[in-house]
Amino acid sequence: MTKEELLAKYKEWELKTSAYKMALAIIGIDKQTVAPEGGAPYRDKRTAVLAGELFSLQMDPENIEVLRELMKMDLDGDTAKAVKMNYDEIMKTVAVPKDEFVAYQNLTNEAYGAWLDAKNRSDYAAFEPYLEKLIEGTRKMYEYRDSDLSLYDRMLDDYEPGMTQEKYDVFFDRLKERIVPLIRRVTEAQKIDTSFLHRNYPVEEQKKFMDELLQYLRFDPYWGYLNETEHPFTSGTCENDCRTTTKYLPDNVASAILSTVHEVGHATYGHQTAPEYDGTILAEAISMGMHESQSRLCENYLGRSKPFWEANYPRLQKHFPEQLGDVSLDAFVAAINAAEPSLIRTEADELTYPLHILVRYEIEKGLFNGTISTKGLDQTWNEMYAKYLGVTVPDARSGILQDVHWAGGSFGYFPTYALGSAFSAQFMHAMRKDLDVDECLRNGQYDVLMGWLKEHIHKYGARYNADEVMRLATGEPFNPDYYLDYLEDKYTKLYNL
Ligand code: ZN
Repeated sequence: MTKEELLAKYKEWELKTSAYKMALAIIGIDKQTVAPEGGAPYRDKRTAVLAGELFSLQMDPENIEVLRELMKMDLDGDTAKAVKMNYDEIMKTVAVPKDEFVAYQNLTNEAYGAWLDAKNRSDYAAFEPYLEKLIEGTRKMYEYRDSDLSLYDRMLDDYEPGMTQEKYDVFFDRLKERIVPLIRRVTEAQKIDTSFLHRNYPVEEQKKFMDELLQYLRFDPYWGYLNETEHPFTSGTCENDCRTTTKYLPDNVASAILSTVHEVGHATYGHQTAPEYDGTILAEAISMGMHESQSRLCENYLGRSKPFWEANYPRLQKHFPEQLGDVSLDAFVAAINAAEPSLIRTEADELTYPLHILVRYEIEKGLFNGTISTKGLDQTWNEMYAKYLGVTVPDARSGILQDVHWAGGSFGYFPTYALGSAFSAQFMHAMRKDLDVDECLRNGQYDVLMGWLKEHIHKYGARYNADEVMRLATGEPFNPDYYLDYLEDKYTKLYNL
């Protein structure tokens, strides 16, 4: 085949796969937001058929041949990168025998049910046999892969291409050195009053404020849509179809607000990726850490800052005069930044959060390197929480069984959460060199800040890897010191240490 014929075949395959992906994405969003629970069995069965069709299409030997041929040819940069990415993705799975792949899928489905049940009863021993099987099954899946990396490195690489245990070890060691003592000092300092955040905040009024906040965030209904769900997430199909969700709590006014600023950060990334990448692999996330860096930048570095609230707090007070009329701007900003070691990762504050990840990283590493066993792992977990966070875990439900990731066979995912926060610190440092960020926040010029992110990060989509984007945007490789300096500076001031 000529180059033109190969490219035509490739484009046809790309269009078809993106159509299946779009259908599955919309079905997934629908399931998690508005679809009636009763229809789930019917829908799930048909959804599995579509997912199977997509899988066959992706693994189609004829297409693999087309990709191989194209890789030998002289292509434009975007196409060459997309072809290579598609090929690498396919090679990750193609060697797994179909029956083993299906068996593994069944195992994760079964394990999810077992996890949910064990969590409800706070019974780690009931989940332990599944965890053991999951580790065995995951190990086997990754052994099929043609790679020089160690097994756990292969897993890490799936979520954050280029990251290895060696690199994460350096990162987490630095973090441990500086953050563990800092948390100790914060714990000993005088507590910040957060009680007023938990007064009664009627949800209908919260929604009215949210409409105003979405305008401030430049979240435009032309390309974005905000829904409600139990666990907020962001998804979408293309540049101009970004779906995000939030959750309102009547006894916590900051929860929906900060969660929305976070999710709109993800959505804005999707919206600002170069439109010509729509429907191609280049519009997908570079890495979990990079996507998370953009949402955390919006949530923590912008949304929790005083200048952000100089613009938005008077509006919030107007909606809740009884609840916040007697609370000063400074007291409010301090409260939404307060830190205290706790048990649950998803509810952790900005300072203690990375230590929740450290615990999970050390456990995963031990599980796959054979130094930690699933037997008695709940005790290991509790000991680590005592050591790093200084908290006592009362039961498995608020300990080892709190997260869904392992039950779904996701090992190697957690570390990206900590990495994302660290990436954002370095991006913020670069952004501050170009812009008066505080003035933009005060004046409602959130679009100027988003414009900077578009120009230096978002527009590239997955065209470059995380390391390359970091260099393009900040002029240097990833350096965790920006993050650690930021945390030290912020919490030393906040708690007058
Ligand atoms: Zn996120």
